[in-house]
Amino acid sequence: MPIDPVCHNTVEPRRAAAFCDYKGIVYYFCSSGCHKTFTANIRQYTGAVNATSARTRENRVRDGEISMLDTREI
Ligand SMILES: [Zn+2]
Repeated sequence: MPIDPVCHNTVEPRRAAAFCDYKGIVYYFCSSGCHKTFTANIRQYTGAVNATSARTRENRVRDGEISMLDTREI
């Protein structure tokens, strides 16, 4: 069952109040408020999701999330 990235509640997709397709990943939300919070801080939330799925820096560069020239640790 998908997890609302904002409040971390599980959300049944057909009962979700809102959803967002971001870079090929669909996020589901329990309420429109969570959806609003997500879209206002999208990098923060998608960054957290990427960290938990243990994607490599190379994958993130390839997907255009970060630049090869970006030397910050994310
Ligand atoms: Zn929520």
